[in-house]
Formats: sequence, structure tokens, C-alpha cells
Amino acid sequence: MSLPLSPAYDLVVVGSGPTGSTYVREVFEQHPGARILVVEAGPRISDPPGGHVKNIADDERRAQAQRASEGPSPASPGRPGTRLLAAPDMPAAAVSTNVGGMGAHWTAACPRPGDGERIPFIPAAEMDQHLARAEQLLHVSADAFDDAPFADEVRHRLARHFDDGRPASRRVAPMPLAVTTRPDGSRTWSGTDVVLGSAARDSRVELADRCLCLRVRYEGGVVTGVVVRDLSDGGAGQETEIAASAVVVAADALRTPQLLHASGIRPAALGRYLNDQPQVVFAVRLPDDVVATHDAVTDRTRDEDGGIVPQSGVSWVPYTDDQPFHGQVMQLDASPVPLADTTPVQPGSIVGLGWFCAKDVTSEDRITFADDTNDAFGMPTATIHYRYTDRDLATIEAAKRAVTEAGTALGAPLDPAPFLLPAGSSLHYQGTTRMGPTDGDTSVCDTFSRVWNTVGLWVAGNNVIPTATACNPTLTSVALASRGARSLVEHLLRRETAATVPPSRT
Ligand code: FAD
Repeated sequence: MSLPLSPAYDLVVVGSGPTGSTYVREVFEQHPGARILVVEAGPRISDPPGGHVKNIADDERRAQAQRASEGPSPASPGRPGTRLLAAPDMPAAAVSTNVGGMGAHWTAACPRPGDGERIPFIPAAEMDQHLARAEQLLHVSADAFDDAPFADEVRHRLARHFDDGRPASRRVAPMPLAVTTRPDGSRTWSGTDVVLGSAARDSRVELADRCLCLRVRYEGGVVTGVVVRDLSDGGAGQETEIAASAVVVAADALRTPQLLHASGIRPAALGRYLNDQPQVVFAVRLPDDVVATHDAVTDRTRDEDGGIVPQSGVSWVPYTDDQPFHGQVMQLDASPVPLADTTPVQPGSIVGLGWFCAKDVTSEDRITFADDTNDAFGMPTATIHYRYTDRDLATIEAAKRAVTEAGTALGAPLDPAPFLLPAGSSLHYQGTTRMGPTDGDTSVCDTFSRVWNTVGLWVAGNNVIPTATACNPTLTSVALASRGARSLVEHLLRRETAATVPPSRT
């Protein structure tokens, strides 16, 4: 923690990932005077802070940034930039602890949800506006890999298999990606530096990195601030109280409920309805006659300047209620899932297919927290309770069939059959502080992400998504954060008005 903190802010945001950063950006723009503090447990790993590690051209520097995101040692590293939680029920459950959160490591796929993935109690037109705003904040574009030599052929083959009977919005398409293509053809992957925009460089917004939020403080249901600890000296630092008119907890789907639990805010639904998207993967080699028509095939995944070499790009087979899977078809180097070491890799000709399923959401799938033991950060120890229902097992088998058909339509499969990755592999954990239209035992917050029965407390992240989605959820959770931020600005303005209006003489 490199800066002296003020004793009070209008808004404290816990967690510097894409959803916390959305609250910062929206409140910064909509409330011209608000003073905002971001409290982030992890270190700065990139310059500008929150920048995506894929933009770091140097291999060693990129690897250092990824290692620094794994949290206190000994860490059990998962996908680069993440730390495994060692949860037996969800062996691949992982978190990132760094400025920018998982948003510094993500693949940046930003599809819109469709059909049953959409939230039934937010009007569709309103949600579409929030999704459009999220696309703007994340710099989403569908043409980042337009120059990939095999992209058209891949999509043509997928479309021939999947498009029949689908509405235009749910047909095979280039994957919308949070990537900006520069005039020289280079690509910049969006991290939270992009989401924050000019807010990142304004003195009204402060970032305390290596600063753990231990508790949210409240009195009579009204939030009064947070208690934090400086981790820069190894965690031996004093606890510091910071006053705030509003607090947003955007500490990921596994640690947001942890912080509420540690704060004594424990609604019945807290930590429940945990869902991750079962992920089935397959790899195929494009047919020789397709590869032979292009000179551009190369065994390099990065060019001389460290940029990713476009090959087959990233394609999308959208979720529909009839085919309830989200298909992501990617050139290898854009994919976070490596092939087995034994696979002969000529990246230009090999594409990876990932089929994500919507989980059967149950209240028994949950994360619970101990009151007498702590994790490596000194927060309540988490236990994940998670299983596949019979319906999930049937969905996974259907996904295997669908991805086999997709792979066969594309070329020659490299494996005899697709396989299911361990639970937690999608890194899309949802539901643990989910929203609902009315207070009750099945939701933690309202449709503006305000925690029920508290004043001044918002939650953000994939954890607020109430539906079982199969598509990558960050676009949706950024959209919901943008929606929540409007209500937060109103809250701040109401407080100011109340403070300036003199008491009436009745
Ligand atoms: P996070 O980005 O996880 O940030 C939460 C932050 O809170 C962390 O930095 C953490 O250190 C901090 N924190 C936690 N507890 C505390 C505390 N007590 N005090 C202070 N700070 C705390 N999603 C997609 O939609 N599309 C993709 O293509 C995609 N690909 C991915 C690929 C990889 C390799 C990874 C790792 C993730 C991917 N994701 C993808 C997931 C995506 O990155 C997350 O959905 C997104 O980052 C969630 O944003 P968030 O702000 O809610 O949380």
C-alpha cells in the first residue's frame, strides 16, 4: 500500500477487477465530486496498472506478472495468473490476486447472453442498453481477428452445421472480443486500465494495492466504511478504519461472499447457488487442402514484437434453448487451455474447441466459511460443496456429442473423443451473491445489486448473475455493475441533499 489513505471517502470499492472498475468509472463520470478509493489485495503487475498481461511483449516479464498474481506463497498455481483453492469438489477453482483481477489474464471473450441465459426480471430493452454500455467500457469488437487467414473457413464450416433454424442473432459469428486493433494491425487486450479510462489518472480516484479489506462496517443496517490491512509488509500491518458513504464489494464470486461473511452480513442465500460452467474440450487439425490454400500458416504464435499471430481467430457458436451450449472455437495461442504436450503443434492448422454448459443451479452447491480458521490471506477458510446433478451429467454428454459434431465438421479430430475438464476450469463462477426481484431466502441483492436490508452496500461480479449461463459472463456482470452504479450515484446525491437541507420548522 503505497499511499497514505484519507480517513473518509464517498465510495470504497473492494476489488480492482472489471466489475469493481466499472463502478469506479460510472460513479466518477456521473458524480463530479465523488472521491473514490479502490482497495485491492494484490500487487500492481503491469504498467498502466490493470493492463492485460497479453500486452506485455517480453516473455519473462509476462511470466513474472502472472506469478505475482498468484497470492502468498506457497501458492498452488492453476492457469497462468491464478491460484488454485485446492477444493476437492471443484479441483480447478482458482482466483487471481492482482490489480485488474482476472481481467488482467482473461481471454476477453464477450458474447451477449441469449434465450434462457437472460435475466427474466430485468426488462430486455433495458438490459440491452446495459450490455451496450459494457461493450463500450470493455472496447468490445467482433473484428479483432478479421485478418486471420482461416477464420472464414472455420466459420463457414461451423455455420453449415449449426445455423439452420437459428435466428440471426444466434448464428455462428466471430467472437466479440475486448480487444482494440491499432492502425498498424497490433492488438491491445482490454484490462481494467481500459474500463477505468481517464478515471485512472484523476486525483479523485485512489488505488491502494496490497491492501486487504477485512470487514465492511455498518451500524443499524447502514454501511459506514471498511476495515483494511496493509499487506505490503507481509501482512503484519495495523488494521485501519476508513469511513465511506457507500461500499461496493467486487472481490470475485468466491471472496465476495467471504468478505460479507467476515463482516457478519450473512443472508440465507450467501454463498449458495454457486455455479461454474462444465467445459468440454476437443482439438482438430484443419484439412490439408484448407491449410494449403494459405501461405500464412506459421509455427510461430507471437511475432517479432510479441504480438499474437492471427491464424484461425476466435469463433462463436451461441447458446440457444434448443442447443444449450456456448461454443468457443479458438486458434491455440488465443486459448488459455493448452493442448497435451504430446500433440504435434503447428498452430496455424490446429483449432481448439471449448463447449461450455449451463449448470443445473441448486442451493446445495455453495461456498461456506469457517469462523475459527483462516486462509493464506487471513480471511475465513472456504469450503466448496459442489456436485453434478443427473441433469448436468446428461447435459455434459450432449455437449460432448455437439462438440464432436463441430470438430468433425471442421477437420480431423486430434483426440479419439472430447473430454470434460475438472470442475472449476471455466473460471466463470456465478451465483454466490445472486440478485432477485424480491427479498427472500433465494437472493442476496436486488436488481440494482444492493444487498437486501442494508443501506450503502453493493455487490458486483459474476456472483450477482442469477441465471445459469453458458456464455462467458464478464460482459453481463459489467453490464449489471453499470446498472448498479446508477443507483449508487443516486444514493450519494440523496445523502448530500439530506446533509445540506436544513431541518424544517414544524
Ligand atoms: P476479478 O477480476 O476476479 O477481481 C476481483 C479482485 O478482488 C481481485 O483482484 C482480488 O485480489 C480482489 N479481492 C478479493 N478479496 C479481496 C479483499 N478481501 N480485499 C481486497 N481485494 C480483494 N471471462 C469472460 O467473460 N470471458 C473470457 O474470455 C474469460 N477468460 C478468462 C481467462 C482466464 C485465464 C481467466 C483467469 C479468467 C477468464 N474470464 C473470462 C473470467 C473473467 O476474468 C472474470 O469473469 C472477471 O475478471 C471477473 O471480474 P470481477 O471484477 O468480478 O473479479
